[in-house]
Amino acid sequence: MHNHYVGRFAPSPSGQLHFGSLVTAVASYLDAKSHSGKWLLRMEDIDEPRCIKGVDKDILTTLEAHGLQWDGDVIYQSQQHARYQAVLDDLLTQEKAYFCTCTRKQIKAMGGVYNGHCRTEPAHSATQDCAVRLKVDTQLEAFNDVLMGKVMPFSSNADLIAEDVVLKRRDGLFSYNLVVILDDVFQQVNHVIRGCDLIDVTPLQSAVYRTLGYTPPEYGHVPVAAVAPGRKLSKQNRAAPVKNEIALCNIVRVMHFLGFSFPSASEFDDIDSALKTAISMWDRKKVVKTPEIIVPQHESTY
Ligand code: GLU
Ligand code: ZN
Repeated sequence: MHNHYVGRFAPSPSGQLHFGSLVTAVASYLDAKSHSGKWLLRMEDIDEPRCIKGVDKDILTTLEAHGLQWDGDVIYQSQQHARYQAVLDDLLTQEKAYFCTCTRKQIKAMGGVYNGHCRTEPAHSATQDCAVRLKVDTQLEAFNDVLMGKVMPFSSNADLIAEDVVLKRRDGLFSYNLVVILDDVFQQVNHVIRGCDLIDVTPLQSAVYRTLGYTPPEYGHVPVAAVAPGRKLSKQNRAAPVKNEIALCNIVRVMHFLGFSFPSASEFDDIDSALKTAISMWDRKKVVKTPEIIVPQHESTY
């Protein structure tokens, strides 16, 4: 049977939404809605020390102000630890995952790419101060990005062997590469539209999907907004949060940014009619492919 489209937006509540994250939110929303799909929302607050209290609520308010209504309940990764740990325990029992005591320094000495050292060591039973890694016995593969076209794998090793990814970090935190996959599988997400900053890690994530026995979703990566070449708008370099008072203008700017000849804000009565038009205009082939687009200096008005 044909799989019903399930997409999602998965922000990390480490900062308010800025123009770049709004682009990703809108693109994933439009791709889902133009396919009569569901659009789920997941708070990626797994790295709790980096999250800011209250920002999750702020993100929800911003999405609602922009007419981006999600389907179903919001999932918080910080509340899913038991489910993640059960998968991890299972993988360890089946010897599909193993404890790794290598330090950053040791990995640097391996040439910067982890070489599977602890795979062949006698099994550690230590659970403190060591990472858990997945045995990955597959190569990195090219994939067909629904927006960018064919994407070749990027790897620092020539034979494109996927490294044994960290599932749980030495500091005890579940890794992003594990939970993003477990949640997308759990939520039956089959379309992932997200920022180009994650395009390089996609072949590795696909390898993890295959290793865990799952089918990777369809991926589409949208350009990342930048204020200057090589400097992407991010929470880290304090991009201005989007202003809810000018939500309609923001939607129009996002559509222009993505490459659509979209009517100006004055043509619309409200945000819902703008989104309706955006859904009907959405065309994957029209989305610009430049991985990074420069936002004019007046970006502070977003
Ligand atoms: N939580 C990630 C971020 O905020 C996005 C992960 C994803 O879309 O796969 O950058
Ligand atoms: Zn190791």
